Amino acid sequence: MEPLEVSHGAVFSERGNLYTISRCPGVRVYGERLVNSGGTEYREWNPARSKLSAYLKCGGRSFPFRDDSKVLYLGAASGTTSSHVSDICRNGKVFCVEFAPRSFRDLVKTTERRDNMIPILGDATKPEEYAFVVENVDIVYADVAQKRQADILIDNMERYCARYGMVSIKARSEDVTADPDEVFESSVRRIKERGCRVLEVVKLEPYEKAHAMIVVEKLRTAYCVAMKDKKFLMVHNTKRNGWEMPGGKIESGESIEDAAKRECLEESGYEVTVVAKRNIGYCDVCACVLGEKVSDGEMESELFSELPDDLSFDTDEYKDVIAWARTCVNP
Ligand code: SAM
Repeated sequence: MEPLEVSHGAVFSERGNLYTISRCPGVRVYGERLVNSGGTEYREWNPARSKLSAYLKCGGRSFPFRDDSKVLYLGAASGTTSSHVSDICRNGKVFCVEFAPRSFRDLVKTTERRDNMIPILGDATKPEEYAFVVENVDIVYADVAQKRQADILIDNMERYCARYGMVSIKARSEDVTADPDEVFESSVRRIKERGCRVLEVVKLEPYEKAHAMIVVEKLRTAYCVAMKDKKFLMVHNTKRNGWEMPGGKIESGESIEDAAKRECLEESGYEVTVVAKRNIGYCDVCACVLGEKVSDGEMESELFSELPDDLSFDTDEYKDVIAWARTCVNP
């Protein structure tokens, strides 16, 4: 079994077949082959049954799923693909939305043995409906095979503050008479109009006729709460005439942690070590241990025990994130 490079070691390949490590050894979800190798059980991931597997087989290179990712999966059906996502995001969560009661019954059976999968009987066109159970997520994956596939993806990414999205576009669901390439192009246009970057468009033939996977990134920001003992670092922004946490835009492909470290170094001159991260909706926050000051930094910086009065932003969130960072850094 060779780890597939683009999957960051989460998907394996042997003689052209793809596999994930079973989170639930001995249990088949859709009759897939189970293979034991070196004491580990692998589940074969059939590209003819799963569009995410087909995407990898067709050369897809943007694979945002990690061991601890939180995923909102729209159109889970009976759980074929989402069970592999549950293998991959072993220490994360997979919120699985399905609106057909019959498929949902099978989905519930699949999720009973996998405690990182949460089945939700809901309509993906109404993201608010499942807000009582779904948290902010890292990735929205949409395979709903109905009209407005791109908009359904983006509506859910916005509602659940996701950085990445993947949508399987079934051309015939948008317009049975249109040329599939035109449908893919108009989906790409729509995604860009809604303020997201398109990382990749991969057609899924020969596994799925007239289907393409579109991978999407929404540009986000990150900031640091950098602690030294009980004090936290802030920078003074002369343009906004106030104190704020060091941070800024996450660049495409950059990890949240790397963006927070880079922005802190640029703005304050301090190095930091990230110990935890948290998605607070409009941006990501990293709890950090403050390191050495290694350069001047673009802004004046200071350590505070309490929030100063002259803040750049009229916000209550700092109180929460400082309390959270204190517990992360000094548990
Ligand atoms: N993703 C599944 C897999 O690979 O295992 C297959 C999904 S199948 C192509 C599409 C599913 O989306 C169907 O089960 C359908 O009932 C569901 N669906 C379609 N529109 C939906 C909506 N608005 N909300 C929730 N589920 C929806």
